[in-house]
Amino acid sequence: MADIVAPASERAHRAAKRYIYAWGGGHAEGDATMRDLLGGKGAGLAEMSNAGLPVPPGFTITTEACNDYFAAGEQLPEGLWDDVLEAVHEVEQLTGKGFGDPANPLLVSVRSGAKFSMPGMMDTVLNLGLNEQTLEGLIALTGNARFGWDAHRRFIQMFGRIVLGVDAERFDQAFDAAKHARGVHADTDLDATALAEVAGEFKRIVREDTGHEFPTDPYAQLDLAIKAVFASWFGKRARDYRDNQKIAHDLGTAVNVVTMVFGNMGKDSGTGVAFTRDPNTGEEVLFGEYLVDAQGEDVVAGIRTPAKISHLADEMPEAYAEFKEIAGRLERHYHDVQDLEFTIERGHLYMLQTRSAKRTAAAAVKIAVDMVAEGIIDKETALARIEPAQVDQLLRDQFDPTARADATRIAKGLNASPGAAVGRAVFDADTAVEWVGRGERVVLVRIETSPDDFHGMAVAQGILTARGGATSHAAVVARQIGKPCVAGCAELVVDYASRTARSAASGVTFSEGDWLSLDGATGEVFVGALPTVSARFEEQPDLQTILGWADAVRRMEVWTNADKPEEAAQARSYGAQGIGLCRTEHMFREGERLEIVRGAILVAQEATRAKAKAASGASLGAEEAGVVATFDAAMAELEGLQQGDFEGIFRAMDDLPVVIRLIDPPLHEFLPNLEEQLVKVTMAGDDASAEDRQLLSTIRSMHEQNPMLGLRGCRLGLMIPDFVKIQTRAILNAQIAVKREGGHPIAKIMIPLVGHVNELAATRALLEAEAKAVEAKAGVQVDYKFGTMIEVPRGALTADEIAREADFFSFGTNDLTQMTFGFSRDDAEGGFLLKYVEDGILPVNPFQTIDVEGVGQLVAIAVEKGRAARPDLELGVCGEHGGDPESIWFFHKVGLDYVSCSPFRVPVARLAAAQARLGSELDK
Ligand code: ADP
Ligand code: MG
Ligand code: MG
Repeated sequence: MADIVAPASERAHRAAKRYIYAWGGGHAEGDATMRDLLGGKGAGLAEMSNAGLPVPPGFTITTEACNDYFAAGEQLPEGLWDDVLEAVHEVEQLTGKGFGDPANPLLVSVRSGAKFSMPGMMDTVLNLGLNEQTLEGLIALTGNARFGWDAHRRFIQMFGRIVLGVDAERFDQAFDAAKHARGVHADTDLDATALAEVAGEFKRIVREDTGHEFPTDPYAQLDLAIKAVFASWFGKRARDYRDNQKIAHDLGTAVNVVTMVFGNMGKDSGTGVAFTRDPNTGEEVLFGEYLVDAQGEDVVAGIRTPAKISHLADEMPEAYAEFKEIAGRLERHYHDVQDLEFTIERGHLYMLQTRSAKRTAAAAVKIAVDMVAEGIIDKETALARIEPAQVDQLLRDQFDPTARADATRIAKGLNASPGAAVGRAVFDADTAVEWVGRGERVVLVRIETSPDDFHGMAVAQGILTARGGATSHAAVVARQIGKPCVAGCAELVVDYASRTARSAASGVTFSEGDWLSLDGATGEVFVGALPTVSARFEEQPDLQTILGWADAVRRMEVWTNADKPEEAAQARSYGAQGIGLCRTEHMFREGERLEIVRGAILVAQEATRAKAKAASGASLGAEEAGVVATFDAAMAELEGLQQGDFEGIFRAMDDLPVVIRLIDPPLHEFLPNLEEQLVKVTMAGDDASAEDRQLLSTIRSMHEQNPMLGLRGCRLGLMIPDFVKIQTRAILNAQIAVKREGGHPIAKIMIPLVGHVNELAATRALLEAEAKAVEAKAGVQVDYKFGTMIEVPRGALTADEIAREADFFSFGTNDLTQMTFGFSRDDAEGGFLLKYVEDGILPVNPFQTIDVEGVGQLVAIAVEKGRAARPDLELGVCGEHGGDPESIWFFHKVGLDYVSCSPFRVPVARLAAAQARLGSELDK
């Protein structure tokens, strides 16, 4: 095709630059690769002409002309108008018509067309070139007065509204009045006389509204229309859209001037829109609509109900056959589903637009797989065509779109975890469990959630909070367990006492037991139980095919963050290749365990001191010995329980690596809240029990001003070693048990929050001894390694030193982001951070997408230093960023071995990791 394209320099031009690319008579000067210069529409028209398709002749004025127009203070660049006249003249020759010629008038459409289609750009003006003289010619030539007057009134209406800025309603009212006066309903019922009257009325409206006569000179019309297209580039809507979509303002828009073809010339004419495949399902059928005896936007405008495209096969079989053949050709030519516009004028088919079709997630996947099977695209192209977000969408229940459109919206919060949840409102976790126990579905509504709410979150269909950001407890846990969640719904006033919530925005109040529907993908909350459509991974073979291709392409592995055997199994079925983060402290919180843990914590410091004393050779008093005995008994019990948990995980992940993070949070998180305990003791006064007083004083003694920077992670293990020692023993013993069953458990013991190599060295020495002792005692060797989480900036900066003590690093990018920015994550996300993003102080929320320049730099430094010190160092990421497609690109680039994310994001990460690999190959 390229051989018939004229070289760019060939067209003579008066202007300093070449601003015009024409087409017609079977070829074009531009082509599909020239979207930047010709815009999407212009490039498509050129490409179709080159392919020999029936496109009415015309020309494109380039985006560069638009930019130069603004650079010159909204003046057409010197010489451009002469070049336009020349191009019009060529179209006249190709069509045998004359612009403004009453004997045989040429009419054109003037259409905007930027590189990306965007709202706010000028609507197309049809039938330009009409005035009373050319109208007479049109009527004489067609012998159809009604058609002529219809075209004329449409032109005045469109030009008046679009170019001259007359209020559209004034025309509509006048038109309706004309129909009313004649007692008809359809536009097509108005005859020529009536339409002539309407046209006169329209002109009067223009005169009244603008203070000028309607322009009759076709060239004046064209000049105004071209300038109006340019002006629309900087219209408010277009500008806002570009800001929002991060599209550059200096792309400019092209202008397309296209010979009119008429779909409104009678029963053998029509206009329509069609997709080469069904954009909803991806099914390989021509999908679209058309109207007989209609022009341009009539199909979209819904003036009459259009017919299905398949019906055209009966009404105009020849035109249909040709269209179907062209559709197939265009699809193969572009290697993608096309969205087409066509017009049939007295049986002749004309193509007016082609572009890649927008499609649903389901259609995107089916089309990609089908097209590979049909040999239209290769697997890599198929992978690139699917957005990671679409994979995510396919794994979530969704609301029925029609029901959703009709539903009453209560409020809108943060889209914290996608999916559709329907349930009755409950306001606390215990009620949630109780209601679910008797067979109800519930949505848990809280001001915010804490670990104490977990049991309620686990049984709820979805979670709604009034406070907290995208990485608040509610959001993180919801994503982890795959529940829809709307968080930080600030307009919601939740009242626990009356068990009601009121939305300030909508004024809707709901109470316990009322049905709610949450859309976690959009953050919307609706009244009532909306019907949902569900989607299961196992039932989506096309999606699995795509992800299989992704697996063959990607370099990074995809692991998962899972704390329970069920989660691990789920993630494995989604394709997880290991556990990158198993958080052991969750295991301390469940059921009666919390009591045991609390018992141990209350005496932990005392017992640790006593043990140190005994170790230095001193003998212990009876009370000290008693404390040690109580502590050890509690720890032994915990050890047994944890061993059971680990066995479950190892069985679920047989043969695959499991990174187990030793206890991380500060101990007071397992104790009752200080304020609550203080209130309890104070209220009881003299009647307060000794236990409660003791508890209060222990909580007080552990209280920290900045617990996130306090005694947590490896620091805690170094101060009270028994916690991590029992965890290590539990891990090793679990491995031994599973190995004895014939399994192959692989443990990677991860020591968190290391900032200085000595912290790691000391901890590792302690735990390695423990592990060896367990192996020696059992007489069994198992597969384990010690590594660390890089989540403190100093740890990243001294990664070479740290690597000498670590077999692996896992980047804990949540803490690393928090500590690098100096943001308290919980406070920032609920507070200023969203505002920061809104105001553009930060480009994105750095807890969602990695901050490449800052936090990312620390990761890059640690990778480089770590690998330099230990070439076989295994590197992964287990922060929330591990499931974020944009961040995955970065992790690929920086050379990590794997990303680890919540089970439900594993499929998304598989695709994103493949796209990162393909993308970085393009970079080279
Ligand atoms: P949009 O970007 O809004 O789709 P278009 O310029 O593609 O704007 O066109 C609006 C409508 O007018 C479409 O239905 C299109 O097919 C029709 N149209 C545009 N140019 C012509 C023409 N030269 N002859 C007939 N119909 C046209
Ligand atoms: Mg439009
Ligand atoms: Mg269009």
